[in-house]
Amino acid sequence: MAESLGSRMVSRSSVYVTAPWGHTDQEDFYNAIIVAEDPSWDRWAWLDFVQRCERNAERVRQRHWGPRTLDVDIVSCSDAGEQLTSSDPNLTLPHPRAHQRAFVLVPWLEAEPAATLLGVPLSEHLDALPEGERAGVRRLCDQTEWFV
Ligand code: ADP
Ligand code: MG
Repeated sequence: MAESLGSRMVSRSSVYVTAPWGHTDQEDFYNAIIVAEDPSWDRWAWLDFVQRCERNAERVRQRHWGPRTLDVDIVSCSDAGEQLTSSDPNLTLPHPRAHQRAFVLVPWLEAEPAATLLGVPLSEHLDALPEGERAGVRRLCDQTEWFV
């Protein structure tokens, strides 16, 4: 994915490991954030892109919240510096649960320290979460190591 983004990639976090949500009898999840930019792409172009990445990874899922080879979500999308909001089920922005998920906020804070979500700095969203959730997100390695 980082390869196909090319010069659209602005920054990326490390890869983090988190114990699974939903069914806990499954492998740990690996999470990372990529910040990307393309002035000629609207939100639907980005949705097309992430869905192509998922197809290329031959994503398979047997059950809801079950194991997946790859899940690429758009956490937030901005146009001319303005964070877009939409309740369209095909592309809900910002991602409705992002502010409650340490596995989103921790890597995002690393990739984009000045970012805000719903008008609030990421670190404040993190501070509002139970301590155990933040501690459950462990840095594994750089994405560069991950993709080679
Ligand atoms: P989830 O990521 O919620 O576990 P899926 O990856 O299967 O579930 O996503 C299902 C649908 O979610 C996609 O067809 C897509 O159109 C829609 N969707 C809504 N909002 C977003 C978003 N912010 N990022 C990615 N997909 C989204
Ligand atoms: Mg998804």
